[in-house]
Amino acid sequence: YAKNKGKNQIAFFSEKILIGKTRQLDLTELLRESVERGFKDFEVYYQMQVNADTREIKGAEALARWKCEKYGQIPPDQFIPILEESGLIMPVGRWIFEQALDACAHWIKKDPDFVISVNLSYVQLEDAGFIDFMEQAVLNSGVPPANVVVEMTESYIASNINRVEGIFDRIRSFGMKIAMDDFGTGYSSLGILKKIPADIVKIDRIFVRDVQTSHFDLTFIKFIVELCHDVGIEVCLEGVETEDEYEAVKPHDVDFIQGYLFGKPVPENTFEEQNFS
Ligand code: C2E
Ligand code: MG
Ligand code: MG
Ligand code: MG
Repeated sequence: YAKNKGKNQIAFFSEKILIGKTRQLDLTELLRESVERGFKDFEVYYQMQVNADTREIKGAEALARWKCEKYGQIPPDQFIPILEESGLIMPVGRWIFEQALDACAHWIKKDPDFVISVNLSYVQLEDAGFIDFMEQAVLNSGVPPANVVVEMTESYIASNINRVEGIFDRIRSFGMKIAMDDFGTGYSSLGILKKIPADIVKIDRIFVRDVQTSHFDLTFIKFIVELCHDVGIEVCLEGVETEDEYEAVKPHDVDFIQGYLFGKPVPENTFEEQNFS
């Protein structure tokens, strides 16, 4: 009896894994189809970033969306890893970059200081041709390189310092800026701020969530801002959702804020209506 029960449990667990695997394979195929059909079902949303003092718009982060007929809206945290594993992130990443530049080209006509930020995957950074592509795309778009920021997570940067140093030098000498994303979640030493030529540090939103009750979180923000400013790095704080959170962090001199309080990610048209009409 016990033996049987054990067998059933194994059957139960492996079935669960199987369902997960099947869905994963299914999603890979659906994503591939979507790419082949001209990026059908993909969309780029934009979330504004504001000047922390004045609340004036500074720019936007481009955020990928994918809505699939079978499973509905799938969050990027789920479909980006599938794109990475399948290699589809290369065509999709190029498409996102071009979409974002296209949008930015319109918006800088109304606000010449408008900055567009685009997330890069480690797969893109490890592809030798990707920097060439980015430079060409920026030149084609007419957007000044100084209005373009590429975001890379702190955790990837920290574990690939030697590789990224040269790549970042090249991106920066072209005139684009580098943002270290999700800062504070990567368990890296603060020495990374000295080693890596970043222009912007984006403090992860886990530090804002409890900012009104957690002395540590507020001190962390204050400390990182001071350290970054001392070495010429600007700080963007992610995830500010309420006026109370804004009031709590405001005295600590962050440069920019990106959070639901100022705007959620929205489609290009909506972003344009909300900010440029
Ligand atoms: P991320 O680059 O750190 O982007 C910020 C995420 O935080 C976005 O989630 C945004 O919607 C969310 N967020 C911003 N403000 C708030 C807030 O006040 N409250 C809360 N609860 N959330 C907030 P999203 O769009 O789901 O993207 C998740 C992650 O997926 C991104 O994190 C990024 O790592 C990845 N991602 C998204 N688009 C792309 C892309 O085009 N390429 C690559 N490689 N990765 C992408
Ligand atoms: Mg980002
Ligand atoms: Mg982030
Ligand atoms: Mg993130």
